[in-house]
Amino acid sequence: MGVLEEKPRRLGGGQSRCPYCGLLQDRVATLDQDWVLLEPDMNPLAHTVPTEHRWIEVSDGRVTVYGVCPPDQSQRCRIEHRLACPAQPLPDLWPWLTSLRGENARRAKRQDDPEPPRPPEEWPDAG
Ligand SMILES: [Zn+2]
Repeated sequence: MGVLEEKPRRLGGGQSRCPYCGLLQDRVATLDQDWVLLEPDMNPLAHTVPTEHRWIEVSDGRVTVYGVCPPDQSQRCRIEHRLACPAQPLPDLWPWLTSLRGENARRAKRQDDPEPPRPPEEWPDAG
């Protein structure tokens, strides 16, 4: 106990080299009759990965996006290689944060705009 056991790698997918960085990636069938290229030997906890980027393996070895919300705290998942690829731009992982940044950029710009003249901070001493 306590030792992570390697599950035998299932056949049918295999590995291919990423055309961008040249590293190996796992080619795995999805439940949608498609393929996804996953980062090998990477099983982060599902709740640390944005919802639509969590892939979990089902009983027949295919994978599907793990959309359970909130995720099971101990559920592990897999991620696409493109998220870890050093040669590809990172997709928008947290769209709500991106929109918040956009909103804050507008707020910061408004703050930089010239303000109306302020009243003097100190009134002359009337004695
Ligand atoms: Zn790559």
